[in-house]
Amino acid sequence: MHNQTLVQISNSLKNKEYSSVELTQHFIRRIEKLDAKLNSLITINSDLALQRAAEADRQLAKGEANPLCGVPYIHKDIFCTQGIRTSCASRMLHDFIAPYDATVTERLNRCGMVMLAKSNMDEFAMGSSNETSFYGPTLNPWNLERVPGGSSGGSAAAVAARLAPFATGTDTGGSIRQPASLCGVTGLKPTYGRVSRYGMVAFASSMDQAGPMTQTAEDAALVLEAMAGFDDKDSTSLDTPCPAFSADLGASIKGMRIGIPQEFLAQGLDPLVAERLQQAIKIYESMGAVIKEISLENSPLAVPVYYVVACAESSSNLARYDGVRYGYRCQDAKDLQDLYRRTRSEGFGQEVKRRILMGTYVLSAGYYDAYYLKAQKVRQLISQDFAAAFQEVDLILGPTTPTPAFKVGEKMEDPVTMYLNDIYTIPANLAGLPAISLPMGFVNQLPVGLQLVANHLQEALMLNAAYQYQQQTDWHQQMPAEFK
Ligand code: GLN
Repeated sequence: MHNQTLVQISNSLKNKEYSSVELTQHFIRRIEKLDAKLNSLITINSDLALQRAAEADRQLAKGEANPLCGVPYIHKDIFCTQGIRTSCASRMLHDFIAPYDATVTERLNRCGMVMLAKSNMDEFAMGSSNETSFYGPTLNPWNLERVPGGSSGGSAAAVAARLAPFATGTDTGGSIRQPASLCGVTGLKPTYGRVSRYGMVAFASSMDQAGPMTQTAEDAALVLEAMAGFDDKDSTSLDTPCPAFSADLGASIKGMRIGIPQEFLAQGLDPLVAERLQQAIKIYESMGAVIKEISLENSPLAVPVYYVVACAESSSNLARYDGVRYGYRCQDAKDLQDLYRRTRSEGFGQEVKRRILMGTYVLSAGYYDAYYLKAQKVRQLISQDFAAAFQEVDLILGPTTPTPAFKVGEKMEDPVTMYLNDIYTIPANLAGLPAISLPMGFVNQLPVGLQLVANHLQEALMLNAAYQYQQQTDWHQQMPAEFK
């Protein structure tokens, strides 16, 4: 069962080849047997999952269930889940049980999906390797000495190891696509505003966006339909209709114009990753796509711009963790100052503190114009580059990450090298564009991904191009040997 895609599982449930309870038991057994090697999960939810599966079976028996009914999934531990801990991989929220469900949680529940566990991640989604988690690093199922990427590294590792057919992720600067690339799974970040942020612990609110991590683009299309859509509880939610993404797959991509940004092939890209990319481009050409060179002139500035904007927003978002409202509180505070200081010193990890410091610095009266305002202007230029490119092409194609997965510990001492991992993913977040990472082969036995970026709200076109690529290749079907 675990080697089936989500769409195949959905059909098997409908045809009564097995029940949701049997399926859920199968995945729980896999989790119990295999997750000790990976540490991809923070909270496992077996009893409740089995109850939900039994409910789903009753729905399925009536024959009128949603295609996702009874399908198990793993939820990134950044989404509020009523009655179940939401830790955001931080000591600060180690004991936090949300009194309500995030909109994404509620929508997946409503379809009858079965939540197996909450996945490990970088603390407050700050990181590219899953090493900043309070619960220890997650390991990459393709090579247990390597990182799975981050911040949705637990979700990516769990899908790659087939502990669930689908996991949720969130992507502020690449946290869905980068771990998808390093773990050999498909990961989609929707247009900003497509999926509600209500009940998703906030990191950088102008970029945070949730999306699916699956084996295939077809699976991603189906779950995205359930996750996306207007929500009046999120003031930045887009009030536009969502197409039936999964019904729109299969159209020919003959004549589709695909742009390759020259800046994405410049220095820093591993030559072996570049080779895989050239093969992927050939596949698109063989399907009739028209490949064009394009330029995203300001994209080399994306990483510094992102670290100004994301830190500024996070320093403001994280001000709420003060030991008074909810979350961790230090012992025996002498006075209010001591309560704040020790709660935050003890509750946050090093990377989170680094971001808060940078954020408060760039927002301070003396530096606001020099850093924050300047970064916002360059952000606008980056968006304009994309707008100009989309006058000429329908999609943009490039690598997702400059290298395959690196070793645990390798980049922890050097934050700047760590930050450069997201050099190809961050521009889409700054511009609010949808993007997807797809497995495109292996470099030294480690998976690497290709990235497609589309114009605002063009997920259907992007998913179709991804689906067509996966009809021509089988990289997305490969499984790490130890987890077959
Ligand atoms: N790695 C980036 C960061 O550390 C992106 C994280 C994310 O997308 N949540 O900020």
